Amino acid sequence: MSDIHTIPYKIYLEEHEMPKAWYNVRADMKNKPAPLLHPGTHQPMTAADLEPVFCKELVQQELDDVTPYIDIPQEIRDFYKMYRPSPLVRAYCLEEKLQTPAKIYYKFEGNNTSGSHKLNSAIAQAYYAKKQGLKGVTTETGAGQWGTALSMACAYLGLDCQVYMVKCSYEQKPFRREVMRTYGAQVTPSPSNTTEVGRKILAEHPGTSGSLGCAISEAVEAAANQEGYRYVLGSVLNQVLLHQSIIGLETKAALDKYNITPDVIIGCAGGGSNLGGLISPFVGEILRGEKQYRIIAVEPASCPSLTRGKYAYDFCDTGMVTPLAKMYTLGSNFIPSASHAGGLRYHGMSSTVSQLYHDGFLEAVSVEQTKVFEAATYFAKVEGILPAPESSHAIRVAMDEAIQCRETGEEKTIVFGLTGTGYFDMVAYQRFNDGEMTDRIPTDEELAASLAQLPKVD
Ligand SMILES: *Cc1c(COP(=O)(O)O)cnc(C)c1O
Repeated sequence: MSDIHTIPYKIYLEEHEMPKAWYNVRADMKNKPAPLLHPGTHQPMTAADLEPVFCKELVQQELDDVTPYIDIPQEIRDFYKMYRPSPLVRAYCLEEKLQTPAKIYYKFEGNNTSGSHKLNSAIAQAYYAKKQGLKGVTTETGAGQWGTALSMACAYLGLDCQVYMVKCSYEQKPFRREVMRTYGAQVTPSPSNTTEVGRKILAEHPGTSGSLGCAISEAVEAAANQEGYRYVLGSVLNQVLLHQSIIGLETKAALDKYNITPDVIIGCAGGGSNLGGLISPFVGEILRGEKQYRIIAVEPASCPSLTRGKYAYDFCDTGMVTPLAKMYTLGSNFIPSASHAGGLRYHGMSSTVSQLYHDGFLEAVSVEQTKVFEAATYFAKVEGILPAPESSHAIRVAMDEAIQCRETGEEKTIVFGLTGTGYFDMVAYQRFNDGEMTDRIPTDEELAASLAQLPKVD
């Protein structure tokens, strides 16, 4: 704990130091992420194509590859102030316990009721919907974090919020459901008989417990069928990465305040929004030739889109109603095993993160669930925060890096994203504590079978 007197446990920015603009990393990318394609014509989606589904201003953000900084409206900044700036924590206790010369920092995004970083984009999306004069928004939620965040944002702005929640989560996570209902959201287990696509799926697969891809299809249909409603999405899209850049901008400002330069930056990757947001300002420096960093994306071995997927155009949902996105994908028909990191069970990856990975700006590793929970419980005991299973993927790799520094004697500075708390994931912890957790890794044959069904795009 050599520098404990010079660098605080928690580096908090002052309120006035909070970023006033989001950073759009696409502006500095030489190879831009590939455009979304219309699922029927395979032509790039225009603003006119996207506006019936998404809010107008969000469509502009989605398509903007050139503007580096986009102002954060004052109303959103006022909301951010309720739980931001979030702390950048020096993991002194973890360093000591691991006996490592490495310096470990984590950016903690779990300090709000929804319990994760998703609120950063939820409030932005709800704000633009309100500004457009809409009545409400529809969305899907898998593990429940996104639905919770969106419910909070909509309640704050007085917008109606309709959430299609994957049926097995709806049943297994009654407390998440009740938080959403407390904030006034209408929560429907998916598949449901309230939409045509839901009725079709129910007829074909009676008794199904649902999937994220199926809930997306229902939410999109529900938005299209109601006057004054639009669909919103909590990850994957460029606009979501843009909003999440607040994580990276704050992290960089806090590090700069104490003249700290990270060597390694680590984040978990589901759809890529927290990782993309955390790394954006640092990748910007790499892209502009100013600095070098090692960046690592961590994904579950049960759903390894970057490490074992294919870089190709694919649907974003199972019902094949969404536009096609070029991304690292396992195929939209791929159903990952029932892992406990629900937020990382997505077949694809943000097209921005995919392009950066393709161009060699970041590495990716996959980790097994039991190893992740070993790290999660270790971290909970040492650092006092009970981490979300998703976040614990990043903890695992940060710890492995620090342990390696112990062997080599290197004093690396490691920064990782701690995206949320695990209070609603106690069933997962229970499995782990009872020794009943398993690692289900897809075989090459299984992946080949789902990748064989990718849409043909030339
Ligand atoms: C949703 C979620 C993730 C994964 O989503 P990304 O879009 O990849 O960031 C990670 N951690 C937590 C706590 C989440 O809720």
